[in-house]
Amino acid sequence: MKILISADMEGATGVTWPADVLPGTPQWERCRAMFTSDVNAAVLGFFDGGADEVLINEAHSSMRNLLLERLDERAEMLTGRHKALSMVEGVQHGDVDGIAFVGYHTGAGAEGVLAHTYLANSITGVWLNGERASEGVLNAHVVAEYGVPVVLVTGDDLTCEDALGYAPEARKVAVKDHVSRYAAVCRTPARTAADIRAAAKDATSLAVRHEPVRGGPFTVELEFDADHLGAAATVVPGVARSGERRVSYTGETMYEAIRTFKAVTTIVSAAVEEQYG
Ligand SMILES: [Zn+2]
Repeated sequence: MKILISADMEGATGVTWPADVLPGTPQWERCRAMFTSDVNAAVLGFFDGGADEVLINEAHSSMRNLLLERLDERAEMLTGRHKALSMVEGVQHGDVDGIAFVGYHTGAGAEGVLAHTYLANSITGVWLNGERASEGVLNAHVVAEYGVPVVLVTGDDLTCEDALGYAPEARKVAVKDHVSRYAAVCRTPARTAADIRAAAKDATSLAVRHEPVRGGPFTVELEFDADHLGAAATVVPGVARSGERRVSYTGETMYEAIRTFKAVTTIVSAAVEEQYG
């Protein structure tokens, strides 16, 4: 049995502030150890539960945050950028039985610690077939196309609530309770590691591959904080204006839809100017 862990950082233990997740800052150096602790706890739990292989896919920022040297030696880690499926890279090879979303967070425009969708603040909302969608929602649809269930979700309490919508069966661990976008009541790494390890062990039995879900077509609509970002996004083939500060596009599969999403966010981030956005 093989488990894939998609590891994001905003939902990690102790993390509440931009500097906590911005590579290169002293706070990030400190918080990456707590992030590693969360991920390693999931690794240990999945092996406790009977997994044979655990692959971690780094999914935050430059995707170079976790401390490889502190991970259980049975785990393997995919680190670095430029991957076909981005946050859930590795799910497409037909050998993954279950996926965990560790350190996830709520979506752009929603309540939650460091809530955003891909871009830190230029995107103010994302809708998938008319429903508001977080990264968890988008990635859950991607992995469903490969028949892989989401078995574990960790993050703040609101992230766990969000996951009830896209992975009702998955085990959930709230490592902190949301107070504001930049504040939370945090539990210590020792305590959250114990909680995550127990939940991952329990979640291993849910890692049973199912028939691939063909749920398309998928219409994705994005709203930006400034209108010129919508204009910039329309250079991506298939992406059209759908309103002021908004664009939308349709993909026949979620694989296509998430790849177009990545193209849009890459183009849009290049169009953001310091200070004025
Ligand atoms: Zn994220």
